[in-house]
Amino acid sequence: KKQTLPDGAAKIHTHTRASAQAKIAMTDVELQNAILNQEFILYYQPQIDIKSGAVKGVEGLVRWQHPKHGIVFPDDFIPRMEQIGLIDPLGWIVLMRGLTDLKQLMEKGGSNLRLSLNVSVSSLHDLRFPDKMAALIRESGVKSNQVILEITESGLIKELARTLDVLTRLRLKGVQLSIDDFGTGYSMMQQLNHIPATELKIDKSFVQNMSETDRDRVMVAKTIEIGHELGMKVVAEGVETATQLEFLRLNGCDIAQGYYVSKPLPLPEFLDWVEKYRAGRESE
Ligand code: C2E
Ligand code: MG
Ligand code: MG
Ligand code: MG
Repeated sequence: KKQTLPDGAAKIHTHTRASAQAKIAMTDVELQNAILNQEFILYYQPQIDIKSGAVKGVEGLVRWQHPKHGIVFPDDFIPRMEQIGLIDPLGWIVLMRGLTDLKQLMEKGGSNLRLSLNVSVSSLHDLRFPDKMAALIRESGVKSNQVILEITESGLIKELARTLDVLTRLRLKGVQLSIDDFGTGYSMMQQLNHIPATELKIDKSFVQNMSETDRDRVMVAKTIEIGHELGMKVVAEGVETATQLEFLRLNGCDIAQGYYVSKPLPLPEFLDWVEKYRAGRESE
């Protein structure tokens, strides 16, 4: 049976990046103040089970609500925050916001909804990270296996031994791990079977070139196989068309995320979206 999405699922949402915003002059002081004043929120993007169409989880994507410039996207401030040592405090703000929002997300999206959050690899160099993380999850009252940390493969190569130690401790505490942007990093294949990840995310560049070249289709199909062979769930990011979704379904990919399902949305709008999506599925 061909997978179909409820009406309106693929409609264009309004939260697109204004290209004029892309270059904003921001000072380090502004970034520091943004941390102090907690000017960060999360947008949420659904991840659907490709077989059933059900919403499996959400990825929280950070946005800076700049007092003058409005919404600023992570690519425009995360690299600088990493350089000036603000990425750890930002990471904790994001985690606490995500865990707080997850309660509301579960009310509309189901009690097993999973929350994926992006962590910078530098945070994983701290051996205390797993304990701090586990304590916050415990306080928030959600199950640790509902939380998935997304790590980009390119960062993993540095300080590999220590990072693997931290990742293993996180897994022992029940937290799930996902390798983000898979395929874009450097020489990851040698490392892949050592990383205790539970999930592999195929980078959107492969998903989006699938329609153009056989080679990209081979890459995607083989990545799904490798992920499964290593016991991981496989997520495709950047799914924008029904054709892409169908190819992924035929090749056994587990989870899809992308504009075809929904763009990332602010919490209130995401809650509305999820309610409508679930109602649409039930009435089918
Ligand atoms: P990512 O984790 O790979 O997130 C996916 C990015 O692709 C998001 O951009 C998302 O809006 C975009 N996207 C989703 N679906 C589609 C689609 O169908 N087509 C296209 N063209 N794009 C799609 P965003 O939100 O601008 O985030 C960019 C990156 O910033 C993220 O890439 C992640 O690496 C980083 N990031 C986001 N939030 C955080 C955070 O809280 N902490 C850290 N350290 N990094 C974060
Ligand atoms: Mg991610
Ligand atoms: Mg990604
Ligand atoms: Mg990315």
